[in-house]
Amino acid sequence: MSRSHKLHAEAKKVIPSGVTSPIRYFEPHPFFVKRADGCHMWDADGSKILDMCCGYGALLLGHRRREVMDAAAAQLRRGTLYCAPTVQETELACMIAANFPSMEKTRLVNTGGEATMTAIRLARGHTKKSKILKFQGCYHGAHDSVLVGAGSGATHYGIPTSAGVPAKSAKETLVAEYNDYDGVERMIKKRSGEIACVIVEPVMANIGLVPPLPNFLRRLRRLTRQNNIMLIFDEIVTGFRMSPGGAQQHYGIRPDITTLAKALGGGFAIAAVGGGKDVMEQLSPSGPVYQASTFGGNPVAVSAAIASVKTINRIKNGMYHRLERLCSRLSRAVGDMATDRQIPHWINSATSMMQIFFTDGRVNDNAGAMGSDTARFQIMFREMLARNVFVAPSQFEVVFLSNAHTNDDVSRAIEAYDAGLVAVKRAG
Ligand code: PMP
Repeated sequence: MSRSHKLHAEAKKVIPSGVTSPIRYFEPHPFFVKRADGCHMWDADGSKILDMCCGYGALLLGHRRREVMDAAAAQLRRGTLYCAPTVQETELACMIAANFPSMEKTRLVNTGGEATMTAIRLARGHTKKSKILKFQGCYHGAHDSVLVGAGSGATHYGIPTSAGVPAKSAKETLVAEYNDYDGVERMIKKRSGEIACVIVEPVMANIGLVPPLPNFLRRLRRLTRQNNIMLIFDEIVTGFRMSPGGAQQHYGIRPDITTLAKALGGGFAIAAVGGGKDVMEQLSPSGPVYQASTFGGNPVAVSAAIASVKTINRIKNGMYHRLERLCSRLSRAVGDMATDRQIPHWINSATSMMQIFFTDGRVNDNAGAMGSDTARFQIMFREMLARNVFVAPSQFEVVFLSNAHTNDDVSRAIEAYDAGLVAVKRAG
């Protein structure tokens, strides 16, 4: 029995399934991590694992980026929690506004889910309407209004609409198909008087990876504006990852409200919700929409985030092009190997993110992703992990590169994919 196996058996006695977040569970047992650095993690059995999951996108700069660690360590010596304002919060909000001009004002929170919950409440408070429209397979966190038609672990475990979400609450969430503009338009034309916001991952990254079709986001922007509906870009994955100004800079679209997390913190727990001044002033105490958080804007996470954003802005010219080149090399190689082995597949990639789907069809939406053979994905995942290369353990997640990955690391990943695809072919 491996050390990780034993540790998982112990964990299961006191933690449901032995994991703190569902997608961390996989058969026969997850590996337990002792430490990490750059693009590697070391597990309890002493294996050095190449990390192609990168904190589900959070570790754009890799594990333990020096500037981020130094800033957090310096702050530790000055205290970890004041529950009173610091100049660092203003500095970070200014940096966010500079990178994301649509975020004129920002509130700092701790997790992505907290950010989207606040964004939705803000939209409802501002428009005085109560329904929201989301897309099938988009994931926005683990709270009631968005655990309807949700991607990520919710789809992986077959519960896109979670038990425990009251039917009354679920009815307030309308679900449309991503990349189907006509479908969204029909829904909005029928119920524009009831819909407070459309919330969307500009690139779907929780159903595997599904980029927007040309003009989908632009038309969504126009449609929401014409119907007094707020457009929320959930940039928790794409913020800082697709460009220093996220997907909104990449695609040239200005949403009303934006949520950020993941890459913002460089590995620390911090998130942000921001938008135009008028909307953001609806938040308490200046406005009637309540939002609060004891650990929101805590000085350790804020210091880490300032260092993370400064580093991204400093190295951006080299980083984004290099990551895009590495990612297209990886995607092309995986696609070529699957084609050579006559394994039906579809690959989506965008900047430093990619995913392979085992399917005969196209994957432009949730339905396309659901058409893929998840058993094949599991065979590939296990074979890659046996070679100490870790991609997220679900078809409905994404492979992320970090600035710590080198060309050699990508070569190693390609070799592991090769073995994974051989195993898929062998299994028939
Ligand atoms: N939105 C998106 C697009 C996400 O990918 C995630 C997390 N995977 C969330 C929201 C929720 O963030 P958190 O897990 O920090 O609550």
